[in-house]
Amino acid sequence: MKEAKDSQEVIGIIGAMDEEIDPLLEAAQIRGKRVVAGMEYCEGTLEGKPVVIVRCGMGKVNAGICANTIINDFGCTRVLNAGAAGSLDNQIDIGDVVVSVDAVQHDFDVSVIGFKKGEIPFTGLYAFPADEAMRRAAVEAVREVAPEVGVFEGRVCSGDQFVSTSEQKDRITSSFGGMCSEMEGGAIAQACYLNDTPFVIIRAISDKADGSQAMEFDAFKAEAGARTARVVQRMVQNL
Ligand code: SAH
Repeated sequence: MKEAKDSQEVIGIIGAMDEEIDPLLEAAQIRGKRVVAGMEYCEGTLEGKPVVIVRCGMGKVNAGICANTIINDFGCTRVLNAGAAGSLDNQIDIGDVVVSVDAVQHDFDVSVIGFKKGEIPFTGLYAFPADEAMRRAAVEAVREVAPEVGVFEGRVCSGDQFVSTSEQKDRITSSFGGMCSEMEGGAIAQACYLNDTPFVIIRAISDKADGSQAMEFDAFKAEAGARTARVVQRMVQNL
């Protein structure tokens, strides 16, 4: 991993939706904005630390492009991905927070030609590991800003689909295990891996990923975005 000196550290913060990014933009001092590939990168400071904050939009292609750009064009030395996710595990409830141990792309499957399900050919990997120090800092930040919620460390499963049936959920967990499903983390993880840049994914649960309550996503996505934004802000302060 890159050993950046403190003075050179720039923290990249990626969210998919406005709800996940807006609270951070409000808390930050933004000194410049630049659009690359339709995404607006906001450069400034948060808690006195250099940051770049961007909304990547939904899905793995957006997320991969964004992570690569924030590292190579904006000089970010660490990447945080924060937002909402569906729970894949009955013990993880709406409002709880999952911090990534690693991330897989559950819809990546070339097993028919001999690779493991989810394995990205020629990387030798199917789960991209998050940075340990950032994981610890994220868990600590959740405990500080949201002591009332559960914080779980485990696998994040990403794919280009909103998981909303028990069948989809079972298919993912039977192959990968996993604590939550979302649509960006696995791509950010791969882009960070390819660029040798540490990352962590922090997701607050907005729904049960099984269609159990059709309205729950809308009701909880703003709350989930606000919660992970508070966690990110505290984490940046502690880093
Ligand atoms: N049209 C909705 C859709 C957002 S849902 C809206 O804006 O109101 C998808 C986003 O939330 C993705 O960025 C994804 O990462 C996350 N997400 C939350 N719950 C999810 C689930 N059950 N499955 C997949 N992604 C989920």
